Amino acid sequence: MIMFHRRKFLQASLLSSASLLVKRTMGAVPEVEEGKTDQPIVISTWDFGQAANMEAWKILSRGGDVLDAVEAGVKVPEADADNHTVGLGGYPDRDGKVTLDACIMDGHLNCGSVAFLENIVHPISVAKLVMEKTPHVMLVGEGALQFALANGFKKENLLTPESEKAWKEWLKTSKYSPVINIENQKKDPNQLPGGPLNHDTIGMLAIDATGKMGGACTTSGAAWKMRGRVGDSPIIGAGLYVDGDAGAATSSGLGEEVIRTCGSHAVVELMRSGAKPEEACRKVVERIVKRDVERAKGLQVGFLALDKKGRFGAYAIHKGFTYSVKNAGIEKVFQAGSYFNS
Ligand code: ASP
Repeated sequence: MIMFHRRKFLQASLLSSASLLVKRTMGAVPEVEEGKTDQPIVISTWDFGQAANMEAWKILSRGGDVLDAVEAGVKVPEADADNHTVGLGGYPDRDGKVTLDACIMDGHLNCGSVAFLENIVHPISVAKLVMEKTPHVMLVGEGALQFALANGFKKENLLTPESEKAWKEWLKTSKYSPVINIENQKKDPNQLPGGPLNHDTIGMLAIDATGKMGGACTTSGAAWKMRGRVGDSPIIGAGLYVDGDAGAATSSGLGEEVIRTCGSHAVVELMRSGAKPEEACRKVVERIVKRDVERAKGLQVGFLALDKKGRFGAYAIHKGFTYSVKNAGIEKVFQAGSYFNS
């Protein structure tokens, strides 16, 4: 199973970690020391963000551009057929179609996005082209596909035999129930409590050697979603927001909750008002929980943030949200703090 390999990779990486420039190496507030801006830096959601970070780091460490770095980084899980929540091999909607959402943004508010895109392995690259080549921010569905094909992308079947098998298994009950921290559980539909893998996303935030901020977010969204459903991930301000004057934020989890709170934008605005990254993430998580505490017990949302000084932090509704950090001094996966601790 892929998670087995990821864990091995994680263990190996932890053993080889360089000296850490953090106040605490474990726990919820792994912020770099005040005033230290150990840049470039790249951070991303979940432990599988480590492999993506390493790809982004190749570009950042040689002085490359932040958007090239985050694009290259998130292309790693997009191309990974064993990752069932991003790109190729993503679990399909309830009709058996894999539909992808992605967006990219820099600190000067340049941004591009695609949603409900089918048959293209790298939606993040299409989103970047929307930003660079069109007067628009967002293209969806058929129009996004047309744009991709006109720009040389090839149509591919994204439904792998494994994902198709999981979908057919799901069809037997057709039960839709999100599973908290499904990302950290064994990815076997038959062995999961409450049904197969439901959701997961890579959100990546970075600062390059020139101090330019950027971020990318890409996902196949909620598994077994209704046809046409779009989550938070491709929505600027929901799944991703970057403003070089304040900071950057991204999210993973139940997108509907993030959309209604304009989650990533809210996190960035809190940092602009002086909140540290983890505190900003916590305040938005609290807004989501406060709306319906009982309901929040059954759903997961996590935010990850990086401020303009290079400080980072994260917070989630439930325990188990992890994130990966890479700069010259840190190569590590952290546990985010959480509202509920059990
Ligand atoms: N936020 C994504 C969505 O709702 C999925 C996830 O991150 O779990 O589409």
